[in-house]
Amino acid sequence: MANAELMEKIVSLCKRRGFIYPSAEIYGGFRSTYDYGPLGVAMLRNVKNQWWHAMVERRRDVVGLDASILSTPKIWEASGHLANFTDPLVDCRKCKERWRADHIDGVCPNCGSSDLTPSREFNMMFKTHAGPVESDGSVAYLRPETAQGMFINFANVLTTSRKRPPFGIAQVGKSFRNEITPGNFVFRTREFEQMEMEFFVPPNEAQTWFEYWYQERFAWYQENGIPSEMLRLRHHEKEELSHYSAGTVDIEFDFPWGWGELEGIANRTDFDLKSHQSASGEKLEYFDQVTNSRYTPYVIEPAAGATRAMMAFLIASYREDEVEGEVRVVLGLHPKIAPIQVAILPLMRKAPLMEKAGSIFSALSDRFLCDYDDTQSIGKRYRRQDEVGTPVCLTVDFDSLEDDTVTLRDRDSTSQIRAKVSDLPSEIDKLFSAFER
Ligand code: ATP
Repeated sequence: MANAELMEKIVSLCKRRGFIYPSAEIYGGFRSTYDYGPLGVAMLRNVKNQWWHAMVERRRDVVGLDASILSTPKIWEASGHLANFTDPLVDCRKCKERWRADHIDGVCPNCGSSDLTPSREFNMMFKTHAGPVESDGSVAYLRPETAQGMFINFANVLTTSRKRPPFGIAQVGKSFRNEITPGNFVFRTREFEQMEMEFFVPPNEAQTWFEYWYQERFAWYQENGIPSEMLRLRHHEKEELSHYSAGTVDIEFDFPWGWGELEGIANRTDFDLKSHQSASGEKLEYFDQVTNSRYTPYVIEPAAGATRAMMAFLIASYREDEVEGEVRVVLGLHPKIAPIQVAILPLMRKAPLMEKAGSIFSALSDRFLCDYDDTQSIGKRYRRQDEVGTPVCLTVDFDSLEDDTVTLRDRDSTSQIRAKVSDLPSEIDKLFSAFER
């Protein structure tokens, strides 16, 4: 399938099935903003939950945080964002479009004119005013990354959680960047969600932990269903490194238009803690009682985009095959990422079947993400569920009323088995275990 065609199909599926809608459509839209519909919000939550589970709940050395989005310019001054968080901007003098200079080739992609202004640095932070008075003193910024929340709370977390380096603080939440050229669907938007973790380590362990984290993070995408051939690691060249970084590796995904960043893992050294310490006057160090010495930890940061990752999961799982002579669209999502795990389908809209299916829904929905659907023919309902990535369909038929068994249909093989209602949790787990690596 041609790449442009694949993107078109995914964007259309997302809208048609309630994953992602262009925002404010009834008002003609608002450039590059999106709303996540019933299935999209469920899938995005799964992506974030899987990340949180792997990065926080499953580990004794990482704790969570939820910091404020709106905060004082002092943070962004100390972090270097006010001075450095810029992209080179050029204007086309002919059609007035604006472009990121490093994304174009000296020619306006809109009108083809080469009459462009010289490039100038454009700060990507959204500026606003906190409170009723719009003065210099009320300026505030929406965070362009979640990371600074972890640095400014380093001392709070250290004293309240009784952790000591090596340990991490993780956060999932919205970030905002006034991107000059957002695009490629939800790959680059001005409002997006990040999943970031700052891992504080003794400086002499920084390189070891850096290597550990990029391997862990590379494995995470595969564990959640992205085939390894669609992923690669890219080490940044020295001249490409950010002002704070002693080493960066990107995890890249094979997007339909080429390789693109999913996540960056950086050795941020002691840059952030030292900057905030000197700007705030508060000590942001660790006193090691064993060696009786004080030091500023180095930080290893795996920084991922939740919305961008969701898009990669959609692209990686999209396929078309043939079932009973018909083209079938399938999202082959991992059950941990799929917005619906089990679709419960009474064969027909007959009261006893609907009642039994309803009671199975109540019993299973505490353990699995379930959907109940009694519209249309069973064949059409299977196709609908295949198209949104539901790994298991459960059908309640007339035999179910007699012998308390139901049909379980596997999305990928379309094969069916008969299972006892009392065995459903373990039978479904067995079907899901095929996805574990
Ligand atoms: P890019 O080079 O694509 O602009 P970046 O290197 O500036 O990204 P980071 O600052 O490292 O990105 O942010 C970490 C992650 O946050 C990225 O890997 C990406 O997944 C996500 N991200 C960054 N900017 C956006 C955006 N505008 N829209 C959606 N996701 C984003």
